[in-house]
Amino acid sequence: MTGRVSGKTIIVTGGGGGLGRAISSLLAEEGAAVGVIDVNGAGAEDVARSLTEDGARSIGLGADVSDWRAISSAARQVGEALGDIDGLVNNAGVAALGSVHEADAESWRRIMNVNVSGVVLASKAVLPGMMERRRGVILNIASIAGLVGIRNMAAYCASKGAVLSLTRQMAADYASFGIRINSISPGTIASTEMGLRLLGGDESPEARSRRLARYPMGRYATAEEIAQAALFMLSDEAKFATGSNLILDGGLTAV
Ligand code: ADP
Repeated sequence: MTGRVSGKTIIVTGGGGGLGRAISSLLAEEGAAVGVIDVNGAGAEDVARSLTEDGARSIGLGADVSDWRAISSAARQVGEALGDIDGLVNNAGVAALGSVHEADAESWRRIMNVNVSGVVLASKAVLPGMMERRRGVILNIASIAGLVGIRNMAAYCASKGAVLSLTRQMAADYASFGIRINSISPGTIASTEMGLRLLGGDESPEARSRRLARYPMGRYATAEEIAQAALFMLSDEAKFATGSNLILDGGLTAV
């Protein structure tokens, strides 16, 4: 097979979710063996099963990225099943609404644990092997929430800002080992906008059209559009990119 990531073994965390599934599928289509890891183990197995049915090599495992023992053991199992890890997509994440004056300490800790410490721990699980082999790619899924302030999303914005800064810091540490570390910052994905209801967001038609009006393109992203950028960053086509952040937001942060 001659895909854009043929012969590479790539882990996708949060691979059972909407965006994680789209990224996993596209990487598999382009020739990668994909280790799908998600705190929702059944979701991860389901994605891996469908990739395998389509002829790819894949394994699905349940693990919480904020739990070192769980994520390091899952990464080891992916290596045993699919071969040395060449790539990691840090896509697992959680969101919640709330401003600082009403911040709930437990929810704040959870968001920072999963969105920031989870990136650190999953990366720590794969970096020693990559350093030894002197090659590897890590892609962090950040967000425009790390670039601009979004009302009523304090913890999420802070966590994604930390991901952007960690991406630059890690690029500095690992460039000499032949390891590239980048991020992509999606704007709202259509399916996530629908999911806002679950977080208790304002679902009135006025609020919905106010949110959409911020997008010069007049629409939200599809998960597939974001997955295409992830594929590029993981492929050798992006071999001079490290410490960079690719924004995919239909123009929102440009205006
Ligand atoms: P999106 O629409 O951006 O894909 P989702 O909530 O569907 O958002 O996807 C996030 C994925 O990350 C989910 O599958 C979720 O189970 C997963 N996830 C959340 N927290 C963790 C965690 N601590 N460890 C691993 N996976 C996680």
